[in-house]
Amino acid sequence: MKRTRPIVAIDGPAGAGKSTVARSLADALGFVLVDTGALYRCVALAAKQAGAAYDDGARVGQIAGALVARGAIRFAADGIWLDGRDVSADIRTPDVAMGASTVSAHPDVRAALLDMQRHAGREGGVVLEGRDIGTVVFPEAEVKFFLTAPAEVRASRRHEELVAKGDAPSYADTLADVVRRDAQDMGRAVAPLKQADDAVLVDSSSMDASAVVASMAAAVRERM
Ligand code: C5P
Repeated sequence: MKRTRPIVAIDGPAGAGKSTVARSLADALGFVLVDTGALYRCVALAAKQAGAAYDDGARVGQIAGALVARGAIRFAADGIWLDGRDVSADIRTPDVAMGASTVSAHPDVRAALLDMQRHAGREGGVVLEGRDIGTVVFPEAEVKFFLTAPAEVRASRRHEELVAKGDAPSYADTLADVVRRDAQDMGRAVAPLKQADDAVLVDSSSMDASAVVASMAAAVRERM
């Protein structure tokens, strides 16, 4: 399909600043933002609520399939809703973050969420942020970025966010979580986190967020 406005893929590891950058970029371009990590977080939260273990692939796969079939996950202007409840805060805990990483390794879970992501982005004029957007969800995306930073930088950002929320583990625990999540996300068999060959590598530790967004917006406008 020929799109009049591009699909922008932003992939990268936990804590690279993808959410902030993707939101500002979408605002600057007037594009829709799709936070695909929130989908995996919703599956993890639903599994937790159902008493299913995150590593029970068959059960979590069924839960994910059922959520999609009944349209249970909804992105609204004011947050993310699961089965009619605003779960924007509930999906941002360290436990659900690690759970999302574990459930996302199951092929059935990834398959269940794939069509939803493709449907959300197919017309273009959209920024999708995740781990496998440029490699699996939209390998044909017109513009791809891989946003990263050293693990220590990402962990200290994450730690500051958790401190601001009044919900902080130690910095050492936050760093250990980041390193473990990276290993899980990069090491899984299906759709592992990796830079697409044609993605532009952006190190967010060497620039501030507004400079990162400005350079990305310029790259996208060149393609429009
Ligand atoms: O980006 P966020 O931290 O919200 O993602 C939570 C988890 O969901 C990640 O650690 C990753 O395992 C998984 N994820 C994924 N593919 C995506 C987006 C997120 O596997 N496209």
